[in-house]
Amino acid sequence: MSNFDFDLFVIGAGSGGVRAARFAAGFGARVAVAEERYLGGTCVNVGCVPKKLLVYASHFAEDFHAAQQGYGWSIGETHFDWNHFLTNKDAEIQRLNGIYEGLLRNAGVEHIEGHARLLDANSVEVAGQRYTAESILIATGSWPSMPDIPGIEHAISSNEAFHLEEQPQRVLIVGGGYIAVEFAGILNGLGSEVIQLYRGPLFLRGFDDDVRSHLAEEIRKRGIDLRFDTNVTSIDKQGAAFRATLTDGSVVSADQIFFATGRSPLTENLGLENAGVELNKKGAIAVDEYSRSNVPNIYAIGDVTDRINLTPVAIHEGVCLANTLFNNTPMKPVHSNVPAAVFSQPPIGTVGLTEAQAREQLEEIEVYRSSFRALRNTLTDSTEKTFMKLIVDKQTDRVVGLHMVGPEAGEIVQGFAVAIKCGATKKDFDSTLGIHPTSAEEFVTLRNPS
Ligand code: FAD
Repeated sequence: MSNFDFDLFVIGAGSGGVRAARFAAGFGARVAVAEERYLGGTCVNVGCVPKKLLVYASHFAEDFHAAQQGYGWSIGETHFDWNHFLTNKDAEIQRLNGIYEGLLRNAGVEHIEGHARLLDANSVEVAGQRYTAESILIATGSWPSMPDIPGIEHAISSNEAFHLEEQPQRVLIVGGGYIAVEFAGILNGLGSEVIQLYRGPLFLRGFDDDVRSHLAEEIRKRGIDLRFDTNVTSIDKQGAAFRATLTDGSVVSADQIFFATGRSPLTENLGLENAGVELNKKGAIAVDEYSRSNVPNIYAIGDVTDRINLTPVAIHEGVCLANTLFNNTPMKPVHSNVPAAVFSQPPIGTVGLTEAQAREQLEEIEVYRSSFRALRNTLTDSTEKTFMKLIVDKQTDRVVGLHMVGPEAGEIVQGFAVAIKCGATKKDFDSTLGIHPTSAEEFVTLRNPS
């Protein structure tokens, strides 16, 4: 037993912090976790979970239409009740908060409520109380960053978007990342008029270029007014609504203006200077491959390190750290072949290299593409096309990238991610039988590189 109050003190009970705390306690460590806002962090409260529930909610409109128009159903008048949805969503989140509380309690982790600050390399202060720990883990996540433009106080971020009192009928969404794209789809599906602006020439930087342009085309078909190379220069209030002046001089009126223009690591007021913890150029906590900061007993995981900002990655980093510190099994988190989805409408699923990355990293590649109308749409008036793409390293025949835009892309790509992690070759794909009739079978029947 050390002389410290705890073996590990975790700051932040989000995706990464809770997992690290539970695993460390499971390995026998004495662990505390401080949380100032909500158990479960961003993902559970204002991220993945409520977002996906909203995606489900918004999909019904399209399903009702397809049922009636193509499949012979008669459906009466439909209506979406925003407050009914919000009440159910909030009840579910409260249930999840309770589950997180139980997980920590059952693992023997002490949950301390309040804002935590480092006092030195081995002590943390929460609500006026000082705690000491042999190791400290910073898992404070990230926070929406808003641009410094006149009238920005009138705009909302994703934090507020989950709690609006009413559904905005006209909404301007600014940003080209996955959160902006997802909310544009959600609100469009729920019947709002949506304009989405992005300052660059094409949204979803970092995703495969074909995927980006295919999705842009599909979401325009759905009626989202998608404008690239455009930004907002100022916002003013106009009665109950808002007016945004754009870089091209035009003016847009909307009931809500929603900025999803990136997130910054949450490092403010953490007392980092008291312990000498250094940040990198991007303002994230600088860590080595074991998630250790420049101070040997202080670690950081998840969004605050700005590596790959996704819940499963934060969780993985937490598991690795707990094993390294308390299970005698040093583990470096792996940041390659991380599968991901964008819950746009239609959604994206992706794993491995984009074509551009593959061309940069490999001598010679083969690219297989397919674009087709999914069977479900053949009876409806939908013109939506599903897009699939495989990137193969010609030297080894390994599939190094797999991308999809189409219904259930996230569900489909999760399975293929295992194959890719195992090093599956194109020959393995070719010798795998399809499940017919599915869209996913297309991935094992792609024959001709383009
Ligand atoms: P968080 O989960 O943010 O947890 C950090 C916690 O620390 C918070 O609870 C915070 O209150 C607390 N905290 C901060 N500072 C202090 C302090 N000083 N003292 C005490 N407590 C403190 N990821 C996916 O994988 N899939 C998705 O579909 C997805 N959708 C998303 C949608 C939105 C709108 C957003 C915003 C994010 C989404 N993400 C998604 C990203 C995902 O939520 C994050 O990557 C993940 O939550 C990061 O986990 P974390 O542990 O680093 O931080």
